[in-house]
Amino acid sequence: MALIVQKYGGSSVADAESIKRVAKRIVDTRRAGHDVVVAVSAMGDTTDELLDLAHQVAPISAPRELDMLLSSGERISMALLAMAIHSMGFEARSFTGSQAGMITDATHGAARIVDVTPVRLREALDEGAIVIVAGFQGFNRDTRDITTLGRGGSDTTAVALAAALDADVCEIYSDVDGIYTADPRVVPQARKLDVVSSEEMLELAANGAKVLYIRAVEYARRHGVMINARSTFSSGQGTFVLSPGMTAPASIVTASPRTQESPMEEPIVAGVATDLSQAKITVIGVPDVPGKAAEIFKIVAKSGANVDMIVQNVSAAATGRTDISFTLPKTDASLALRALAAEQADVGFESLVHDDQIGKLSVVGAGMRTHSGVSATLFEALSTAGVNIEMISTSEIRISVVVRGDDLAGAARVVHTAYGLDGDTEAVVYAGSGR
Ligand code: ASP
Ligand code: MG
Repeated sequence: MALIVQKYGGSSVADAESIKRVAKRIVDTRRAGHDVVVAVSAMGDTTDELLDLAHQVAPISAPRELDMLLSSGERISMALLAMAIHSMGFEARSFTGSQAGMITDATHGAARIVDVTPVRLREALDEGAIVIVAGFQGFNRDTRDITTLGRGGSDTTAVALAAALDADVCEIYSDVDGIYTADPRVVPQARKLDVVSSEEMLELAANGAKVLYIRAVEYARRHGVMINARSTFSSGQGTFVLSPGMTAPASIVTASPRTQESPMEEPIVAGVATDLSQAKITVIGVPDVPGKAAEIFKIVAKSGANVDMIVQNVSAAATGRTDISFTLPKTDASLALRALAAEQADVGFESLVHDDQIGKLSVVGAGMRTHSGVSATLFEALSTAGVNIEMISTSEIRISVVVRGDDLAGAARVVHTAYGLDGDTEAVVYAGSGR
């Protein structure tokens, strides 16, 4: 008998039929003798629809009211799910984030969990009930207001509950079968991974993989929670995300060559991530004197932009000027451009170029620490495919390149093949969003 936390994403509870299907899955887990705590997202696209509504009544809404509004989406799904479970003859009790003891800081729209006090959840579990918690929301003790954790925050709710209740596993259900070596919609030969380390998962998530939210993986790594990403629409075992000191369940270990091999022989590369959400800004003709990069990135930071890669060219001897390029989320680009343009005379650069047709490809694998030649394989594959590299950045376990956006999918396929990641069959893609 274990304590299992399950999280169901919006696409898993999109309508009455889906809610009943999820209820059955929860009841099956309970029937197998386990205690079950469920974190649930809002039905389907409810959160987006509520946001649209807010925009219709006011161009800018007060963050407090926006959180009141958005948190209601999860209250609908939690109550309906509890009702569906009741009708199957099982006791279920739903709780809002604040009833569940999800204590956050006061930042509306992007609150951080600071404490979890699941007193009422424990009581309900002790009384034999299945516990359903509204995902994505919490409560601040100082302001006494409802907060939300940021888009996709229900994953974090689930992991935080698993940590606070010392659950055996946190199962995160969505409409994909688990973590793949690449996005199957981009690379049809992508394989599902049976296990992936949390540090690899963090890099994959930070570089475009959308199956798990990065903050949830960070939280799991910090608190030692085992995540199992799996599909609501199949019975597959999914992918286990393991932090240091964890071992995958025996059933996975015997089925997976990756976990049988000694760590030294693990595949060097876990996966290839692709990201079309970034843009590139080039600041042209920057005086090549100390302090200019500091000025530029202070301006960019003040605009709220989140800079990813940076490249500075060698300056031309004749002019003493250089170009600095950086990437940032497309959605941050216009504010950053406006902020830079406003300071052009002060900084003394010549012009700005905005390019939103770029793609970022990242190769991630913990084996890179101990193996050489990983980047050579990448550059070789891209060169054979005739793909031009515009920027390069690396971390200990990742290499990323910026290429033309049109080249990204083709590049991902050749790179996937080059690292020997291709599977024998095409990956199953449900028509879903990956959430
Ligand atoms: N309903 C929220 C969203 O759509 C939270 C979640 O789905 O995890 O962002
Ligand atoms: Mg959602």
